[in-house]
Amino acid sequence: MRLVLLGPPGAGKGSLAFLLKEAMGVEHISTGDILREEMKNDTLLGKEAKGYIESGQLVPDEVVTKLIANCFESGRISGGYLLDGFPRTKAQALDLNEILEKVEKPLDFAIYLNSTLEVVLKRLTGRRICKGCGAIFHMENKPPKQEGICDSCQGDLYQRADDNEETIRKRMDVYLENTTPIVDFYQGLGNLKKVNGDEDTAVVYKGLMEFLNENGQRN
Ligand code: AMP
Repeated sequence: MRLVLLGPPGAGKGSLAFLLKEAMGVEHISTGDILREEMKNDTLLGKEAKGYIESGQLVPDEVVTKLIANCFESGRISGGYLLDGFPRTKAQALDLNEILEKVEKPLDFAIYLNSTLEVVLKRLTGRRICKGCGAIFHMENKPPKQEGICDSCQGDLYQRADDNEETIRKRMDVYLENTTPIVDFYQGLGNLKKVNGDEDTAVVYKGLMEFLNENGQRN
């Protein structure tokens, strides 16, 4: 399957991607994860991205598009793919189409998870992520069995620096301005699938798998 996941921060893209990649064995590419890794390693790219990320702004198009182009052109993606957090602007969506045409891996569906600000705020302020395996927990809705420790791999849990209320509100504004037009773009191409991101990830996942099974899977 070849998918992109669209939706506001906190709509559940990461949690859904975690389940989909297990079920379908596709390559999961999150531009946010790649950028955070660069920040952690204090690379030039990480230094450039840090200011944008911590203030809730978008990293410039050419920087993220290059990361995605590298993923396809380096052969990292040999079968299906799941792009999470890319594209985020119309320019990125147009560039992605060109990259996909070049590598002959056209998109199957753009999955659009919509979610309200109220739900997003609650989810993100309580979100904790495993440093080891990327599993996602929530302090109220899905607390780990042992505080600060991942149930699956015993890795340490952390809170993202941009998961505070002020930055979440900024990220939501940036999303509404830049990313909403992409939804219309994919709608126009005829491959948009809308799902309700306010529902639990397990419910969203079940409905989406039914849809994908009915609409043909390929690698
Ligand atoms: P995410 O993990 O997807 O929530 O992304 C975290 C942050 O990384 C965003 O708020 C942006 O600053 C940056 N980022 C991730 N993906 C992109 C993208 N496609 N375009 C621009 N900035 C991005």
